[in-house]
This record gives sequence, structure tokens and C-alpha cells, in this order.
Amino acid sequence: MPDPRHERIERTQAALAAAGTGALLLGPSSDLRWLLGYDPPPLERLTMLVVPAAGDVHLVVPVLEAPLAEEHLSDLGIKVLAWHETEDPVALVGASLAAAGAAGGELAVGDQLWASFLLRLQAALPAAAWRPGGTVTGPLRRRKDAAELDALTRAGAAIDTVIEQLGDLVAVGRSELEVAADLDRAIRAAGHERTNFTIVGSGPNGASPHHIAGPRRIQPGDAVVVDIGGRLDGYCSDTSRTVVVGEPDPAFVAMYELLKAAQEAGCQAVRPGVTAASVDAACREPITAAGYGERFLHRTGHGIGLDEHEDPYIVAGNEQPLEPGMAFSVEPGIYLAGRWGARIEDIVVCTEDGGRRLNSTGRDLVVIAP
Ligand code: ZN
Ligand code: ZN
Ligand code: ZN
Repeated sequence: MPDPRHERIERTQAALAAAGTGALLLGPSSDLRWLLGYDPPPLERLTMLVVPAAGDVHLVVPVLEAPLAEEHLSDLGIKVLAWHETEDPVALVGASLAAAGAAGGELAVGDQLWASFLLRLQAALPAAAWRPGGTVTGPLRRRKDAAELDALTRAGAAIDTVIEQLGDLVAVGRSELEVAADLDRAIRAAGHERTNFTIVGSGPNGASPHHIAGPRRIQPGDAVVVDIGGRLDGYCSDTSRTVVVGEPDPAFVAMYELLKAAQEAGCQAVRPGVTAASVDAACREPITAAGYGERFLHRTGHGIGLDEHEDPYIVAGNEQPLEPGMAFSVEPGIYLAGRWGARIEDIVVCTEDGGRRLNSTGRDLVVIAP
């Protein structure tokens, strides 16, 4: 298989040239991982990839990182510029830009670059105008290639095996923290190189969409929102299921059935050419019609790939048409403060034939014996 990094660098340079932006400057980030397949540590010492619209790509690194960088980049033709402890790395970045004729004009800078570095760059390059790097890389990264879709598919299958263990892990008397610790172990045992998050919201805590697992112990009749994700071969998984322990409240069952239908409607709406906003609307409409519109507190979903949350966002107002290869979550939730919450989340890939879910565990309400 050809090395995708060459093509990604070429597409990035073409996008910069088309926009009249002189260069893209990236610190350690998923953008840099996407371009180089290399994940340097974010340090107080500057590491910076300089991608000019035309000319040589350079990686500025602290000298102690240079051996690792050269090992990763030797076959890419990217020159590694190592700086010693007493040197000024920003001057190296400036020299690299000057060599490419990009020291004035507009520069794009990675969304996750530390402010301390950006401030130094701005002081050294007072004539430059700045734009967020994500506006360059987002449109390039949002359509996944076959290898990326394969990684996302494997991550989805791995996280599903963890969801299948919920019947054993969620039980009356266990604390959210205990369940979350077991989920963390299970996520890594399923093949993820790391756990990204383990949300366990029991009973009234489920009404807070990003609840952080705490000491609360699961009570009989609780609904428990579980939202978990990790990173496998660099790509993220993310899925939510809501289970009930013991006898469910009939009002919760009715609300859950509505949510399940809404999530299905959102997934069914996915196909090339429809807008991200229309998928949000398809998901939201049944919930609003049932009177819970205000209780669906968040957008329907987010793109996923090297980042847990990235383009395209499935939200009202995003008129971006979906394209084959885009991958994103469809995750409606209904949250009744002080009482309970529920969310169902699958990752969906837009294909020529419609949406393909990467998560396949059941979406019927699971009732766990107390
Ligand atoms: Zn979230
Ligand atoms: Zn999630
Ligand atoms: Zn999500």
C-alpha cells in the first residue's frame, strides 16, 4: 500500500496554496499525527512541523527528540532541524519560513498549539496574520480513507465487546467509580492502547451528559448511562448505552423507547448529500414532538477519527453536506434533572448506500437483574 503521508502532505500544501496561506505550523497534535504518523510528546520544549504552501517541509525538534523523529521521518524526505538547549527554536521556525518565502502574509497555526509558543511566534513574526490550523486540516481529515475506516471499524468492534460486559459490571451496590475502573481495564483488554473516558452516570447523575464517575452506589431501579471510548491503532472509539438495574419505571421505559426511535431516525437519515444539520433535525424531531426538546441538551453528534471530537459536527446550522467516508456519532440523549437520563450512541460512517454503523450491540433497553 502506498504511504498515505505523501499524499496528505501534498493535499495540505495544495490547500494552503489555494487559500493564499503561506504555511501551516503544527505542534504535537492529531494534525501532526495525521500528516506524519508520528506522535511526539507535548513538551515545554518546542516541537514544530513547518509545512509551507510550496517548498521543503521541516520538523523543528529539541535535540533529545531528534533520533526518534529521524527514525519516523527518514523515508518521508522531511528534514529534521534539531535545536540545542541554549538555542532559540522560534528562530529556526522563522528561518524555515523565510526559506520558503512564507515569513510574512498569512500563517495557519495548529488548534492545540500551546499559547506560550504562539505568543513567541507572534512576537518573532509581527507582520504575519494568523488563522486556525483546523480550518486547513479539518476539511482534509473529515473524509477517511480505507485504512482509517478499517481502524475505526476495529475500534468500534473492540468497544462493543466492553458494552457486552455491562450485565456483569453494573450491579446494585457497586459505585460508579468501581464500574468505571473495571470499564477502563476492559477497554484496554479489548485491544485499545489507551482509555479515553469512562462516563458512568447512575440514577439522577445520568441527567448530566458528561457526568464524571463518582462514589454514588447504584440503587435498585436506577437507569445507568455508560459512555466509553478509547484509542486503537491511533483511532478513537465512542459508544453509549443506557441500562436499568432492577425493575424499570414505566415512565423511563416510555422515554427510552422514544429515544431509541430518535436514534434510529438519525442513523437512517445519513446518506451522501444530506446536510449534517438535517441528520440532527431527523434525530431531534421525534424528541421535540414528544415534548422533550429542551431536555435533549446537546448536538446529535461529532466527527471521530484521530480525535474523539472533530469535523463534521452533527448540529443545527452545519450545512456541510455529508460525503462518503465521513465518520461521526449519532448520540441523542434525554436528561431530566434530578431524576434520570438516557443516551444511545453509535458511530456511523456515511457510505454511498447510506449510513453504516460501527457499533452493533443491542439498542433495546437492557434490564439487569439487581
Ligand atoms: Zn460527549
Ligand atoms: Zn460518547
Ligand atoms: Zn460521542
